[in-house]
Amino acid sequence: MKKQFAAAVDVGGTNTKFGWVDNSGQLYGSGSVKTGEFSRAEDLITRVHKELQNLINFDQSGICGIGVGAPNANYHTGCIHYAPNLDFAKSIVPFASIFTEVSGLKCKITNDANAAAIGEKIYGKAQGMNDFMVVTLGTGLGSGIYTGGQVLYGSDGMAGEMGHTCLIPGGRKCGCGRLGCIERYVSIGGLTTTFLETTEGQKGELRPRQIQALAEEGDKHAIQTYKITGEYLGLHLSSMAALFSPEAIFLSGGLAQSGEVLLSPMRRAFEDNLLSHHKGKIKIELSGLEKQKTALLGAAALAFSSFSV
Ligand SMILES: [Zn+2]
Repeated sequence: MKKQFAAAVDVGGTNTKFGWVDNSGQLYGSGSVKTGEFSRAEDLITRVHKELQNLINFDQSGICGIGVGAPNANYHTGCIHYAPNLDFAKSIVPFASIFTEVSGLKCKITNDANAAAIGEKIYGKAQGMNDFMVVTLGTGLGSGIYTGGQVLYGSDGMAGEMGHTCLIPGGRKCGCGRLGCIERYVSIGGLTTTFLETTEGQKGELRPRQIQALAEEGDKHAIQTYKITGEYLGLHLSSMAALFSPEAIFLSGGLAQSGEVLLSPMRRAFEDNLLSHHKGKIKIELSGLEKQKTALLGAAALAFSSFSV
């Protein structure tokens, strides 16, 4: 089979990363720029395109297109919709069509968690699976859902936002403007807030790594913080299992690397709350993709699944 190449772009609130990936998942050069330096999408895209051109060291006839993972990205329209962390996307920005204009290449865009799910299916542990979820645990909580072999996009291209389903009615204020979303509890910021609450502020505001170190030393507040966070996640995933009946759920992102202090209470709460016909059948595992490459492999996988040369 002829080798194909896709440009992969991961737009984040802090950095926009990019690189070339072939259809076996190998990365051919990558780089990043500071997203905040660009107030217009056109300027960011022109710069990224230029950098990508400089990285080409392979047969260009194999290039099939561009895949982009970005917050609040709509697969159907190719636009980024009101992304709070992106200065250039305070309205609806037709990101994919601008990229095509600038580069002359076809471009597909989806939200970063959907891209992670497509990456897991093409390169990771979900190869051969038709029904699974990927949950990304970082600054926020993202989810990408495959059902019947297809990414769940919904009627408007914006489906699969488990992070903004309600965990605690009337709870913590979320960036989406609503109250009690699970993202405000099961994320890096959520863990920090729960630790502050558990300690009643007596140990100050610690970073997750410091809270994890305390937990490993046996600190009861830190262990309790992870237990609460894990139980919330496990409980909520059991509801997702009732809705989507996945074969497996894969976790990625920084918080997923916390180890058993998070994963044990999560698995217990998950199994305890599953419907009886699901008990013991649904695996929860860490993503099979290398952490640093997940976003780019996901974006490339989106391009390969949409275009071919
Ligand atoms: Zn929310």
